Amino acid sequence: MIRINQITDKVSAYIENADLDLIQRAYVFSAQAHDGVVRRSGEPYISHPMNVAYLLADMQLDEATVAAGLLHDTVEDTDTTVDEIEELFGSDVADIVDGVTKISQMDLEDKAVQQAENIRKLILAMAEDIRVLMVKLADRLHNMRTLEFMKPVKQQLIARETQDIYAPLANRLGLHRVKTELEDLCLQYLKPDVFGQLTDAVSDHRAAGEPYIDKVLELINEMLKKNKIKGHVYGRTKHLHSIHVKMEQQGLTFDEIFDLIAFRIILNSLKDCYAVLGLIHAIWRPVPGRFKDYISMPKANMYQSLHSTVIGPDGERIEFQIRTSEMNQIAEYGVAAHWQYKEVGKGQQRGKTAGTRDAERYTWLKQIMDWQRELSDPREFMANLRMDMFQEEVFVFTPNGDIKELPEGATPVDFAYAIHSEVGDKCAGAKINGRIVPLHATLKNGDSVEIITDKNRMPSRDWLKFVKTAKARTRIKNYTRTVERDRAISLGKELLEKEGRRASINVQKAMKEGLLLKLVEEFNCGSVDDLLSQVGFSRFTPRKVIKKLYAVIHGEPLDVRKPKKEAETDAKKKQPKADGLHISGVDNVLLRFASCCTPLPGEPIVGYITRGRGVTVHRIDCHNVNNFEDERLLEVNWEGVEDKPYPAKIRVKCLNKKGMLGKICTMLADLEVNIDSGSFESRVDGTSILEFTVEVTDLNQLHHALSQIKALKAVKEALRVS
Ligand code: MN
Repeated sequence: MIRINQITDKVSAYIENADLDLIQRAYVFSAQAHDGVVRRSGEPYISHPMNVAYLLADMQLDEATVAAGLLHDTVEDTDTTVDEIEELFGSDVADIVDGVTKISQMDLEDKAVQQAENIRKLILAMAEDIRVLMVKLADRLHNMRTLEFMKPVKQQLIARETQDIYAPLANRLGLHRVKTELEDLCLQYLKPDVFGQLTDAVSDHRAAGEPYIDKVLELINEMLKKNKIKGHVYGRTKHLHSIHVKMEQQGLTFDEIFDLIAFRIILNSLKDCYAVLGLIHAIWRPVPGRFKDYISMPKANMYQSLHSTVIGPDGERIEFQIRTSEMNQIAEYGVAAHWQYKEVGKGQQRGKTAGTRDAERYTWLKQIMDWQRELSDPREFMANLRMDMFQEEVFVFTPNGDIKELPEGATPVDFAYAIHSEVGDKCAGAKINGRIVPLHATLKNGDSVEIITDKNRMPSRDWLKFVKTAKARTRIKNYTRTVERDRAISLGKELLEKEGRRASINVQKAMKEGLLLKLVEEFNCGSVDDLLSQVGFSRFTPRKVIKKLYAVIHGEPLDVRKPKKEAETDAKKKQPKADGLHISGVDNVLLRFASCCTPLPGEPIVGYITRGRGVTVHRIDCHNVNNFEDERLLEVNWEGVEDKPYPAKIRVKCLNKKGMLGKICTMLADLEVNIDSGSFESRVDGTSILEFTVEVTDLNQLHHALSQIKALKAVKEALRVS
């Protein structure tokens, strides 16, 4: 059994002035908490946390992590609380223990295997501090090492979970050593026959191959010496799991696998790595397509190395991995190792005050950020890594414990649509972790979400303001569009009936007799409903339709009170069509710009279906929009905007100095901003307020003009007003 001084000795070997007291106290506390409990192996329970802490010291982690390793099971298995841990060992240790406990309490066993990837991401996301994962993986590694004492059923469950979740997780974090050991242990329990055969075959091969390995090692060492390069070379047999995967994937027998033996050359500098690669390629012919430069293109888990397979001395394939010792440390222990390495490498003293301690509480992301600065193309690396890891997604649970993956910022409505379109449509309320929340609440990792449905509920246009998923958006839009069309149809019918009465036409009757159908083609519509909706949307005036209908019924034109020409120009004048606008899903609607907020191209806008006067377009933040009925709001987009002037009001507050008005007017003229009208007011406090209505082509031009004006010394404020 491991003794506590073995752990502290190890830690002081890599941390100067390490806080060994913290580790000692954690040990004493843990031993007391677990006192009297015996593991299935017959050892006292404390042997498990001790082994976990030892593994963590082996990975060269900080004192807080090692202490957390000692304490990791106290909250879950004993009466100890996280608060107690915090009080005794500080928030750093407490946070790690808390994180490990939370992961342990996640019920992973029942999950379908296809969700393993999600669970891995969830674990990553939940553990904001990478040290939580280190402790969890060390915990799992020791449990796997001692799996023989478990019942066979339990062995299978734990091994499967390890294979599906923890081994790939270790891989993602670049903990190569942990990953390979976990994989080989999984193979042992999940496929004992394969494991047995491979173990025998490998040991035979190793025995047979020993002279060969020695020969290659000697050749390489000679080569290094001759070229005055310092370094170490190791020959090793690949781990069983990877051999097994290769046999399965490529359908090979054991004897058909050539590169069972890999050589690793560890050097002092990057330059030496490439030099040695060149030397090897000069002696042995490289196998085409087997050279990989992970030094200039590191893997997402930060792995760096040169790989090459060559045809060796006796015509056998040999694989080489060439890297620096720092790269090797990362290859085996991942990013945490790097963090460690860098701090020690820089000779930084680990601070003892609370302040520096806090500063040391790096989150996983922070470390990555530091690290990526040194990479050749950090932005790309970062983008891949973040996408790959967890940055832009959240993982939440359904009431059944299934996991749903949603984009960052997703709301209960997104969640509802992710479950089923029907659930989304009928979504009336939501609970997060058992508490009622508004539908626009933001979901966080690990939240358990429940949707309250109501069969009378319908999707609301308001939801479009906060939903994040395409599925929810499309569904809501389609729905509201249908509703809007239905409304337009009944509105159109209403308007026609009213107009019809003036001409003594019973529109209802005419519809029943199919007379309106005769007009459909003439108005370029697809159906009677289509025609009605166009009237509702004010595409055609009711008068125009009734006139045609009159002609159909009476075989002669309606005796109009106004001359035809005048009526049309009149209508045009009243409702000038707004160019450069597009209403999604509806064409040819009469649009007018609202005079209350004078929207400019590029601004978020919304359409409002007026009663019989077409659609007015408002800025989305216009104060009037709040008072509009939801059902009458329409989505409108700027599209194919023409270079024509749009009005905008601006207000400038400046010192009341001579020539200010002239200066600003000249400036606007220089910027090709036309002034439509303006007013000027001097105040007693020595300032002036200038207000202009100007004409600009878009928002950018307006902003540019405002910033130019603002740059004038005497100007205190220049803004757009409604
Ligand atoms: Mn444990």
